[in-house]
Amino acid sequence: MHTAYDLPNLAAYACSESTSRGRLHPEPDPVHRTQYQRDRDRIIHSAAFRRLEYKTQVFVNHEGDLFRTRLTHSLEVSQIGRSIARELHLHEDLAETIAIAHDLGHAPFGHAGQVALNRCMKDFGGFEHNLQSLRVVDELEEKYAEFPGLNLSFESREGILKHCSAKDAQNLGTLGQRFLEKNQPSLEAQTCDKADEIAYNNHDIDDGVRYGLITIEQLLETRLFREQHELVMQKYPKISNTCLIHEVIRRMISRMVVDLIDTSREQFERLNLKHPNDARKLDNYAVSFSEDMQNQTLELKRFLMKNLYRHYRVQRMTTKAERVLNSLFEAFINDLRILPPDALSHCNNLKDRLGDKGIARGVSDYIAGMTDRYAIVEYERIYNPRQLSFANLIP
Ligand code: MG
Repeated sequence: MHTAYDLPNLAAYACSESTSRGRLHPEPDPVHRTQYQRDRDRIIHSAAFRRLEYKTQVFVNHEGDLFRTRLTHSLEVSQIGRSIARELHLHEDLAETIAIAHDLGHAPFGHAGQVALNRCMKDFGGFEHNLQSLRVVDELEEKYAEFPGLNLSFESREGILKHCSAKDAQNLGTLGQRFLEKNQPSLEAQTCDKADEIAYNNHDIDDGVRYGLITIEQLLETRLFREQHELVMQKYPKISNTCLIHEVIRRMISRMVVDLIDTSREQFERLNLKHPNDARKLDNYAVSFSEDMQNQTLELKRFLMKNLYRHYRVQRMTTKAERVLNSLFEAFINDLRILPPDALSHCNNLKDRLGDKGIARGVSDYIAGMTDRYAIVEYERIYNPRQLSFANLIP
């Protein structure tokens, strides 16, 4: 892939159009936009992107209108990722693309959905949301006459596939290679990975406090929160709780972003990076926090695991969600006739290629593509005897 449309201010180690490995299906160059802008635009116009609005991040979507969804989470990752990329002279458009696409493959009901669907698929190759994100952009989006999926550039696909087992990597050609050779993705992909971490750690605190699952007093256990809390209280002793939490969180985000930029910049210089592939060949990420910040974020993650993600009220939601997905999978796999026509023909196409495994993959694709509320409605339609009426026939 080659155009003269490289961004100004790009560092030699940034991904660029002149060093790009191109698209699976060659296409004419875009006009008046970069290759990575084109990738971003394709994602924004995709169905999978629109569905993120009704998918759970941690809290089930319909439990409250103020909580983060996968869509608002992805936008926050994009905001943070772009700021960091711009400051490090990386390709901002590529960072944005990876950020808004990084969660496209998530099943409904957040982590609970991933666990449930993976269990259902254990004899058929499993379910992994990263791989599913790649499936969405490579195969499942049906929009273009000339190729399946969105035909994104290698660099966008590389960034979307954050993790991958060696077994899965073997089937992914060039894209899987780095997992077999234990190499790193581009610096833009590393940036988005870190931006994801910064976004969810901070917004989960915000949502958790708003939902009454964790308190400010509890949060003072963690150094990252405590230090910023002290600063805010010194400056505004009479501050309201609503403003307090926001003032603390915005400082925490800022602390993490500044630490990441400063540390990474030093590393780039020390490692003498001259080409995007120099970063790919390293044993570890070159985009990273200082050791001190790394420890503080670990402490915060442990706090959230113990007090928020394992809170009994979150656990109830999780268990219920797992039950819904298990039941849907069981119903469809045992009787394909109840699948809507599009989903059925998708299963049959995959069956031609992959046999029984293909049918299961088709059902998994159908379920993974559901929003939280669609999964609940489907569950009701299939299992609730009161829905044995004509209302059930309305699509
Ligand atoms: Mg994420």
